[in-house]
Parts: sequence; structure tokens; C-alpha cells
Amino acid sequence: MSEPITQSFDFATRAVRAGTERSQFNEHSEALFLTSSFVFDSCAQAAARFSGAEPGNVYSRFTNPTVTMFEQRLASLEGAEDCLATASGMAAIMATCLATLRAGDHVVCAANVFGATIQLFSNLLSRFDIAVSYVDATDANAWRAASTPRTRLLYCETPSNPLMEIVDLRAFGNFGREIGALSVVDNCFCTPALQRPFEFGVDVVIHSATKYLDGQGRVLGGAVLGTKAFIREQLLPVLRSSGPSLSAFNAWVLLKGLETLEIRMRAQGTSAQVLAKWLEQRPEVARVYFPGLESHPQAALARSQQSHGGAVVAFEVKADPSSQRSRAWKIIDSVRTMSITANLGDTRSTITHPATTTHGRLSHADRSRAGITDALIRIAVGLESVEDLKRDLAQALAAH
Ligand SMILES: *Cc1c(COP(=O)(O)O)cnc(C)c1O
Repeated sequence: MSEPITQSFDFATRAVRAGTERSQFNEHSEALFLTSSFVFDSCAQAAARFSGAEPGNVYSRFTNPTVTMFEQRLASLEGAEDCLATASGMAAIMATCLATLRAGDHVVCAANVFGATIQLFSNLLSRFDIAVSYVDATDANAWRAASTPRTRLLYCETPSNPLMEIVDLRAFGNFGREIGALSVVDNCFCTPALQRPFEFGVDVVIHSATKYLDGQGRVLGGAVLGTKAFIREQLLPVLRSSGPSLSAFNAWVLLKGLETLEIRMRAQGTSAQVLAKWLEQRPEVARVYFPGLESHPQAALARSQQSHGGAVVAFEVKADPSSQRSRAWKIIDSVRTMSITANLGDTRSTITHPATTTHGRLSHADRSRAGITDALIRIAVGLESVEDLKRDLAQALAAH
């Protein structure tokens, strides 16, 4: 009989073993249960399962054993009481909003969050009479100034995309408790391998599992983590009746992703640190944004929350304002090893021009307020040799 994998085990052990539940065949790797429903011995059992009087699977929109294994493993890694998986990161954010907010409520959100998150808050929630205010997330007073008696939800990412601003998670969680609002952190960039927001008193953690949890650019997935009461009593009824469920196949791929999460994050983060330092020395580069650099304005706060700087590096190239875009595009188009794509968190390095892609739908004024210039380039560092990446960037920076 194997020992149950409790929180007393180290992260690396939990990443490969937590949540595993074997079938009667005693398979070593997790089984993939591709089934939409589950059969009952009798009408009485069906009724008991439906009512919840008897635990067990009913239908894969609510529970599926492969999905449950992924949820339990991720909960163990984040140090959460409970977790529910969703079809994508956006589905996780939407379900959290549906579980928390009603007409007339108010959300305070960091100004620098994922573009689709802003679309969801500004364009969709507004249709249901839910208001949102955006704040400079690095300014604790800004959260307070923006909140109202109807504020029910506080939302941030740290580090932020693409300028790597750090939110003080302890202050964020404390402020949520003080005003009775749910504090929600999208932990996409760090993953639990680097940063565990529950240790700082935050209420809910969101994941786009599409990024580093999969880690190999294969499937979409998401997750919401929090207390058992929030997950089972508030979130599960929303997911059960609205249906953005994670497929069992994707859960199985994500279980395999979690097994290598820590070693990928360490290797990609080590390369990102090297690349960020190298970029800082380059004459073509005006500024580097990376929380692992001493030059980062919040380097000490970053060190107190995350075990390293992560694997995403952004930098501005030197250029006249009128030629910033063509200069950045020339460099990106000259890169040969990295992929030009907006995704991140892959084993293959990706390179992006945020001003015309991920943040292209913002107005010019919103973009400059967010500090995203046409000279900015974002790299999500993969598992290639960092020497090859440096050589590639050196020739791209030299291209004119
Ligand atoms: C990609 C991303 C999301 C959305 O996740 P999907 O899985 O693409 O729906 C949310 N937050 C952050 C920070 C992301 O990078």
C-alpha cells in the first residue's frame, strides 16, 4: 500500500505523485477516462449520486476521474484547500466572476493584466451592470482610492505582462479582507513552482494551464483554487450549470505537464536571468524589464514573493519615437530560432511585439498609460541553449 502524498512531502514529490488515484488495474501512469457519463447499479444509486448523498462520478461536465487527479495535484502544489479545472484560463476567470458578482457590484482590477481579461471585465461584465475600475497595481493607495462599498472582487497578476510589475501580495490579500472583497491573483507567469499566493493570504488563485502548467504548447486549460467552501459551494454550482469543463484528455496532458513544471521553470528561469543580464549590456537596448535584475524597481519585493525572476523578459530597443515600431519589427523578423507568436510558457522560446499584438486592441492613450511603447519586445524564454538564443538575438539586433 503506498503512502498518501500529504503536504509534508516536498514540492517535487507532490508534482509527480499527488492526486494520483489508481483504477482496479493498478496502472502506474494516470488513467485517461474518456467518457461523458458513468453508470449506476440501480435507480436508487443514480438518485443518491445526483443528490450528492453518495459520492461518485455522474457526468463529466461536473466530475471526471482524470480531471479530478489534475485538480488535486494542482491544489497540492499551490497549497490550496481545493481546485476546479476549466476549459481555459478565460473560463476560470469568467466562472470566478459568475460565482462572486451580481448586478450593481464593483471590481477593482490592476491596469496591467491580460488583454482578454480586460475585455471580459469592460465589455461583458458591464452588460450585467457590474462596474470595473483599473488601478496602478504597484500603488497600495490606488486600490483603496478606487474601492467603493460595492467592491466585491480585487484582481491582479504578478509579475504583470509585459512590464513585469510586482503586486505586494500580502497587502493585496489584507486589503481584500479589510473591505470584504475576494482577492484574486492570476498566477500564470510564476506558477506554484516559483510563487504560492496563498502563503501571503490571498483568497483565490487563477491559472491559464495553457501556459507553463502544460508547458509544451499543446492544450488549453484553466483552474480556480481556493477554500473548500468557495470552490464547492460557490464555484461548483456555476460550473455545473454553465459547462466550461476541462476535457479529460487535456487534464491528462496537464498532469504530465505538472510532473516537469519545477525543472522546466528552473531551467527556463536560469536562461531568462542570463539573457536579461546580457540584454542589459547591449548597446542597442534602452531598458530591460525582468524581476530577477537588481535594476528592477521592485527587486526586493519580487525576491520576497517569488523564488526567481521567472522566464519572461521584456526590453525596449533604442530608436527615435518615429521609428520604434519598424526597428522592433525588424529585430523580431530577423530572429531565426525563436518563434513569432503571442503564446508563452512553451519549451520553445517565443518573441512578441506587445504594442501591435497582445495589447494592439487598446487605444493609443491606454497603451501609453500602461507604459507599452512601440520599442518594446517580449521574449518568453524556452529550453533551447541560452548561448544559441544570445547568438540569435545578437544577429537580430545587428540587422538594419
Ligand atoms: C493566456 C492567459 C490567460 C488566458 O488563458 P487561456 O487559457 O488562453 O484562456 C489569462 N491570464 C494570463 C496571464 C494569460 O497569459
